Amino acid sequence: MSRNEILDANICEDDESSLRPSSFDEYVGQTNLKENLKVFVGAAKLRDESLDHVLLYGPPGLGKTTMSMIIANEMGTNIKITTGPSIEKTGDLVAILTALEPGDVLFIDEIHRLNKVVEEILYPAMEDFCVDVVIGKEASTRSVRIDLPPFTLVGATTRAGDLSAPLRDRFGIVSKLEYYDETDLKTIIDRTSRVYQMPMDDDAKTALAMRSRGTPRIANRLFRRVRDFAQFNGEDVITKERTIEALDRLKVDQLGLDDVDHKYLLGIIHRFKGGPVGLESLAASIGEEPQTLEDVYEPYLLQIGLIKRTPRGRIATFEAYNHLNIQMED
Ligand code: ATP
Repeated sequence: MSRNEILDANICEDDESSLRPSSFDEYVGQTNLKENLKVFVGAAKLRDESLDHVLLYGPPGLGKTTMSMIIANEMGTNIKITTGPSIEKTGDLVAILTALEPGDVLFIDEIHRLNKVVEEILYPAMEDFCVDVVIGKEASTRSVRIDLPPFTLVGATTRAGDLSAPLRDRFGIVSKLEYYDETDLKTIIDRTSRVYQMPMDDDAKTALAMRSRGTPRIANRLFRRVRDFAQFNGEDVITKERTIEALDRLKVDQLGLDDVDHKYLLGIIHRFKGGPVGLESLAASIGEEPQTLEDVYEPYLLQIGLIKRTPRGRIATFEAYNHLNIQMED
């Protein structure tokens, strides 16, 4: 069974750009990160320097790309966007770096997926704003140093642990994005409703926020689907009843869990007496990949306290039993 696509934060939407906030003040939540970046950006501007390199990490759909665009916007510079896996050869990266203008932001999404040889080009680029390229053939090869304009690298990753130490150490600012709480998600949903000019009742916003897995990308996607149900029924305001009906039909439960989350929790509870159980055994027993469970499902289940990770394995908490309406055995 695969992830209910409506809840897959890895899948981007075509019209996401229309919903992206463009300044720190419009960016909802992530207060710590935002307030610190405001200071760093403000100070860099006062010194007339480029901003130090920034590493943003955390689950997909929480606003890393959006934040990097805001950094460029607030610095008054341009942004070039690329991804780790798309830079295959060193030449590709050299071409990107040499085309930068002074102060530009270079955003590399999934930076943990850069290959090693390409990554090594980044070290002198980040530290000394230069690259060493080898030119010529066979006996006449030589290395030439090319100076680069000062720039800011913003790297984004969902797996900070996969970044090599030398790369990680070259970021002056390292920040984690957290899941959004219900209040922040409601503010984001409110903004989306205004951008789409489709009003939504306050308690409908609450119901939607609760089912959005703490993730703006999912909140915006669920909003669009709920809007479909409302408009199809000839309504010009989205009500709580319509929201709940739509989300039930999309198989998204009150906490934003789908069939795989349920299978995961029921697996621990019924097959392993609530745990502890090792990830591999659990994955094998429910027919899912351990990596997928660890990257896609567990972060949110941990966040909302339905599971715990102990040295001996995963356990289902009292809240999980409660949510699934199952009596906890003594
Ligand atoms: P990925 O790494 O998977 O690309 P991401 O973390 O870069 O995801 P974004 O693409 O920046 O996520 O954000 C996804 C969507 O959520 C965007 O449409 C954006 O408008 C919205 N969004 C994200 N963060 C915020 C926020 N803090 N306030 C308002 N909207 C937000």
